[in-house]
Amino acid sequence: MTESSFNREDFAYIDENYKRIKQQIADAAKAAGAHENSIRLMGASKTVAPAAINHAISIGLNCIGENRVQELTEKYPRLELENCDCQFIGRLQTNKIKYLLDKVSQIQSIDNMGQIRELARLLEKRGSCMNLLIEVNIGKEENKGGIMPEKLLEFVDEARQYRQIHINGLMAVPPAVDEIPTLMGYFEQMRKYFIDIEGKKMDNVDMNILSMGMSGDYCEAIACGANMVRVGSALFGKRN
Ligand SMILES: *Cc1c(COP(=O)(O)O)cnc(C)c1O
Repeated sequence: MTESSFNREDFAYIDENYKRIKQQIADAAKAAGAHENSIRLMGASKTVAPAAINHAISIGLNCIGENRVQELTEKYPRLELENCDCQFIGRLQTNKIKYLLDKVSQIQSIDNMGQIRELARLLEKRGSCMNLLIEVNIGKEENKGGIMPEKLLEFVDEARQYRQIHINGLMAVPPAVDEIPTLMGYFEQMRKYFIDIEGKKMDNVDMNILSMGMSGDYCEAIACGANMVRVGSALFGKRN
């Protein structure tokens, strides 16, 4: 999608979507006994043109997530990020990590020690630190990113030894299922891991962010304890 294909109507569409989503998040938070401000909305902005992303930021969106390093690198100079946090949520090859360090505040899709070691090496050179979420393959699906649940604790325990990174929570993309109870079962399992790990009080590990829920299921995710939802198509429109 080119930038010139965006006009006022597209922006009005984003306005409407944003308002509706924020209201639904507030309602879902209230129903879950959480404060609406405790749930963060991330705009999942893959394939979305910078003009549309910037418009969403101008009406209050304060967090975006990109999936591909190359796409982020291309769009980055045109993004107006003074009041918006930029994070990475896609499959991540170790050799591309170096392109992210000056652009993102948090990587949500960490699922192997090679990534941790490379991050630690690069961050040490820069003299900085980065927050990470560990992605969990909660449905144990082949061809999907994330640590297998039974390996999660061991992984967190090894990763936390690197002082240049800070483990800030968990992320998951559950299997696409039609039955709401099945879906919520995955979300509930994530919350259980989140609480279990927090309870271990491990040095350099804080379970601050539980990132789960997308356009079709963010209300269910909030009901199960998500405090960050990653919404793409419901906010920006269908992807091509
Ligand atoms: C694309 C994507 C989303 C958003 O998906 P929608 O269904 O469009 O809301 C969320 N999380 C990740 C990791 C994604 O890749």
